[in-house]
Amino acid sequence: MTGFDERDTIFSRLELVPGTERYKAYYSNRPKLEKTDACYRKAAGGRYYGTLIENARADSAFRFLKDTRPLAAGQDRDASLRADCSSPAGMESLAQIKRTLQEIAFDYGADLIGTAVLGLEYFYRVRGRGDSYGKPVENPLCNSLIYAVEMNREQIEKAPRVEELIEASRSYVRVMLMGMALSYFLHELGYQARAHIDGESELILPAAAASAGIGEIGRMGLLLTKQYGPMVRLGAVTTSFPVDAFPEKSPPVAENGLVKQFCQQCGICAENCPGKAIPHNIELTESAKNGKPLWNIDPEACYSIWHEYGTSCGICVAVCPYSKTTAR
Ligand code: SF4
Ligand code: SF4
Repeated sequence: MTGFDERDTIFSRLELVPGTERYKAYYSNRPKLEKTDACYRKAAGGRYYGTLIENARADSAFRFLKDTRPLAAGQDRDASLRADCSSPAGMESLAQIKRTLQEIAFDYGADLIGTAVLGLEYFYRVRGRGDSYGKPVENPLCNSLIYAVEMNREQIEKAPRVEELIEASRSYVRVMLMGMALSYFLHELGYQARAHIDGESELILPAAAASAGIGEIGRMGLLLTKQYGPMVRLGAVTTSFPVDAFPEKSPPVAENGLVKQFCQQCGICAENCPGKAIPHNIELTESAKNGKPLWNIDPEACYSIWHEYGTSCGICVAVCPYSKTTAR
């Protein structure tokens, strides 16, 4: 069986409400997790928790994102939209549509774009967030347009302070807007299309982005791009439109295994991770096949630091040598 069950992610678990049937069903087989997660659900706070205004800035962005999730979730269910790849105005218009997709993405601030026709292993097997909880991902749209925005370097370098969280939230909103603009454009032309945004994604984005040639998965489990290192936020649109041959001007960014070699020797993120969530080992623990990460990150250990700090930490991103690359 391919794909990952999103219900096992920490963000899905923290949405479970104590006392509900869903809560009981999930934790009945995972009593140890119930205790840990109960601690994480406790009131906000933490060592680097921001001021009232700083927190309002991040929280308002996340609330806005939450409000947009239903728009993304319902996008690929419109039966009136075409499921096939044919062009509404003949083959000639395909190239024009592709160019326009690229223009829209760049207009909304994309810094990197790639495309891929993704196998099922890049999708969650079962969804775990919001109204999609427990639903299997069946027959997803596999033509994928994946994009990244560069995050503000100065803000990210302040990690683990709250500025990092504010910048992360701002970047999530930017890629959400991009995804909505692209998917609505494709709908207008009669194609099925679905934006994958924070909290409402069928896709495992770093693996999908690596498949699209935007970068490679690094030791810290995030996508490392040649231009911006891990200082990016990712978004995607899957569609019935044949994106597989995307416009020629898409920047070639894949480093073809160089990240893997570099990470094997580097390990700076592992040394600096306060939660010991990133493995130190030199040998790879998993193959890169099937979109799986090369190194196993411990998400529980990472989230325990988020909880302790009251921010999304981000130290690994800030210290990575790829964050200081020169290709800009
Ligand atoms: S965000 Fe912080 S705790 Fe999590 S892996 Fe990175 S450095 Fe470690
Ligand atoms: S800090 Fe080093 S080991 Fe970690 S992801 Fe970046 S390059 Fe790889």
